[in-house]
Amino acid sequence: MHPVIVIHGGAGAMTRSAMSAEKEREYHAALRLVLQAGLAVLEAGGSAVDAVTAAVVELEDCPLFNAGRGAVFTSDATHELDAAIMDGASLRTGAIANVHHIRNPILAARSVMQNSRHVFFVGEGAERFARTQGLEMVEESYFSTPERHAQLLRVQRDTPDAAVLDHDGQAIVESQPAAPAHPLDIDKKFGTVGAVALDAHGNLAAATSTGGITNKQVGRVGDAPIIGAGTYASNETCAVSATGTGEMYIRKVAAYDIAARMRYTGATLEQAAHAVMFEELPSIGGKGGLIAVDAQGNITLPFNTEGMYRGYARVGSDPVTEIYR
Ligand code: ASP
Repeated sequence: MHPVIVIHGGAGAMTRSAMSAEKEREYHAALRLVLQAGLAVLEAGGSAVDAVTAAVVELEDCPLFNAGRGAVFTSDATHELDAAIMDGASLRTGAIANVHHIRNPILAARSVMQNSRHVFFVGEGAERFARTQGLEMVEESYFSTPERHAQLLRVQRDTPDAAVLDHDGQAIVESQPAAPAHPLDIDKKFGTVGAVALDAHGNLAAATSTGGITNKQVGRVGDAPIIGAGTYASNETCAVSATGTGEMYIRKVAAYDIAARMRYTGATLEQAAHAVMFEELPSIGGKGGLIAVDAQGNITLPFNTEGMYRGYARVGSDPVTEIYR
């Protein structure tokens, strides 16, 4: 076995020209720290579930990414967070959606997987469950950052009816901080974080966490916490975590479609992931990216946007981080 961890911090319309060299370095450094957290688990012989949990907690705590602290705002200027985790060895899984006070939504998803007889909790019930698990609760303002708030105001002023993907809005705010508004292309904006891993025991796992999309309607849930849409893992095939226009990933059952293609048609990970990313999703206007690993340790990180914050690390080699095509 060659243990490996793969991560993403969202896909979108980030372009070199819109990002300062300093900001770029910040993202690479952050992605590296995240990979190191996951790698440390794998190096110590830990499980894929522990590795993806460690990586996603780091991503949630980092305000650069749209999950946990730094989550985007809803149309009511609130935060509603979604997360899911899946263990490929047992097909056990846990998900939560629409929570406002759980500091690390991925830990709540994991508690659902391990300590409840259910799979998916939402809203108040999810928070009540998290409290009984002793998870850290925070004021909603903990998740807010000035950058995300500027993004919301900009979107509401320019395209009040649109909900936009995180990194597209961010690229616009960064490229024209004082300029008059340009219409936002709602197809171009994504953010979410995720990790997939293969451990030394041959087990796969996937985890995804998100604040959703800027200016989303209150109560809207995306693909991240929907098992088979934005998150899936099975030792028989692969582990997948997605980012992008969640509605389309749900409609195409994107993550599970990759696993199903491998299982039913004998497609390789690369073939299955590419078919979903470059044929299935675009056929209904789906944009974004995904990361996936199979039981042999093959990895793929396709996206159909300008960029995707991403990286991978294998035990014994240096982490690799990338942003653009
Ligand atoms: N897929 C996420 C959602 O629809 C958003 C994203 O990845 O940017 O909630």
